[in-house]
Amino acid sequence: TPLSHIRNFSIVAHIDHGKSTLADRLIQSTNTVADRDMKEQMLDSMDIERERGITIKAQTVRINYVADDGEEYVLNLIDTPGHVDFAYEVSRSMRAVEGSLLVVDSTQGVEAQTLANVYHALDADHEIVPVLNKIDLPAADCDRVAEQIEDVIGIDASDAIRVSAKTGIGIKETLEAIVTRLPAPTGTLDAPLKAMLVDSWYDSYLGVIVLVRIMDGQLKKGDRIRFMQNGTVHHVDRIGVFRPAMTEIATLGPGELGFLTASIKQVRDTRVGDTITHEKRGTDKALPGFKPAQPVVFCGLFPVDSAEFEDLRDAIEKLALNDASFSFEMETSAALGFGFRCGFLGLLHLEVIRDRIEREYDIDLITTAPSVIYDIHMKDGTVQQLHNPADMPDLTYVDHIQEPRIKATILVPDEFLGDVLKLCQDRRGIQENLTYAGSRAMVVYDLPLNEVVFDFYDRLKSVTKGYASFDYQMTGYRQDALVKMSILVNDEPVDALSTMVHRDRAETRGRAMVEKLKDLIPRHMFKIPIQAAIGGKVIARETLSAMRKDVTAKCYGGDASRKRKLLDKQKAGKKKMRQFGKVDIPQEAFISALKMD
Ligand code: GDP
Ligand code: MG
Repeated sequence: TPLSHIRNFSIVAHIDHGKSTLADRLIQSTNTVADRDMKEQMLDSMDIERERGITIKAQTVRINYVADDGEEYVLNLIDTPGHVDFAYEVSRSMRAVEGSLLVVDSTQGVEAQTLANVYHALDADHEIVPVLNKIDLPAADCDRVAEQIEDVIGIDASDAIRVSAKTGIGIKETLEAIVTRLPAPTGTLDAPLKAMLVDSWYDSYLGVIVLVRIMDGQLKKGDRIRFMQNGTVHHVDRIGVFRPAMTEIATLGPGELGFLTASIKQVRDTRVGDTITHEKRGTDKALPGFKPAQPVVFCGLFPVDSAEFEDLRDAIEKLALNDASFSFEMETSAALGFGFRCGFLGLLHLEVIRDRIEREYDIDLITTAPSVIYDIHMKDGTVQQLHNPADMPDLTYVDHIQEPRIKATILVPDEFLGDVLKLCQDRRGIQENLTYAGSRAMVVYDLPLNEVVFDFYDRLKSVTKGYASFDYQMTGYRQDALVKMSILVNDEPVDALSTMVHRDRAETRGRAMVEKLKDLIPRHMFKIPIQAAIGGKVIARETLSAMRKDVTAKCYGGDASRKRKLLDKQKAGKKKMRQFGKVDIPQEAFISALKMD
């Protein structure tokens, strides 16, 4: 295809504003997929994505479209994830295309992820076509939302396209705008091959599939190619495009997006942002790379049944093959036995991986509270990275501790602003900015990531009845008065319940935790002290009193079946417990104890 007849674009939107529905309509109206094969949300392929209605992995599709000028165009759409955890994938896939459709729900207006995503598009120098979606709804207010796009984002929205992705209004206009308003890619056919590695994932039949954008030159089946970052050479088994099913084609030329397979064993061997060239007569100038996504949230994953440890290892290794942004190493916990310390891009990423292990591999898990990475500055001048509060070095060797901070942007209707400010303040936030966009306030806070990873988003949703939107980016590390708080049950520290807290909040947090644990741990035949401590000093204490009688005593030995039922129930309850010293701790305690209300 000549460059002038190619358009590469992405769709950026806040979650639920209709990105996937619009993609479906574009695919359907161009007969890319036969109607009988059309299912909703063509591009969201993983089960979890479908169930939660979110897109996790970026997906692409190639659409052929005959425009009003009578010419046939090739439109390549990259669908990007909408969630804040995956901002990194958004920014890198933007570099593979020249334009974006900016979809805004005309009943809602600009939200936090609209802003975050459109900034990625602007960073990648995209031409942007605003699309006002859901105009079929009575609450649609296109004029107001267009004005808001101009005010808040600062791009011209006077010729925004008015669309209903649901009913199909404006789809034709959208396709025309892609052809007439977005630029064609550039590139040179007879230059040495230069292809950008946009994404890669593992397929159980084909091995690693690599999504590439050809910048210069031509890629053919059978070519010998070199990955410039590590110098490895591979033989190309197949190349093709997504329609959206994988379809093999003979060549990929400049400006095109497609896939290759080359008997690559692991996703880890393919670096996103790498440049692929030919082994012979290749280019010597690599494209500017991206820096790899770093896990920011860590937690322990332990099998409920310790006999399933090897199964868990197997599951984690398999998942890691397809997700290079997820890290893991073995961990042993006195409380929980053998497990893994895993690193994730954010909480959603954590939940997705945990769900997949439980669901696809059928392993019950205990997840310990998520934590961030602290920089521990030692008195001898070295810096240690702390991924697990349980590993906190002896304080006498520690000079100071630094924690990661974020810049959070929250958009919220006026009436909830007070609650949002209070929440941010409670989480040690420092207000940086407060402006208005229509009837919405936009607040920017500098917050410790630690205060956000656990339940901030849930709390934000609950205090604003779901009306707030939220996005964040990491800004750097800063010193603060942080301490490790240990929890002792029956005088023994439970390592999996250790947390890092701010000195000033330790007592309140500690008291809340021991109170919660007192409710969560069942009574035993003896009394159990539950304490929170910093170093050797106890800062909060509760005592769980001893159970007086056998639970079956009240059955008077009369009703045998009732007695058996009770005992069975107790046994089932036991299975979900972890014995710690002489005390059984239910698995939910490891998460619930840390929730702040
Ligand atoms: P995404 O999160 O941006 O991918 O949003 P989806 O495409 O999943 O859409 C979110 C919800 O809005 C779904 O329930 C869609 O059916 C609905 N939706 C999308 N477009 C329209 C539209 O034009 N009109 C109406 N009424 N609903 C829409
Ligand atoms: Mg979607």
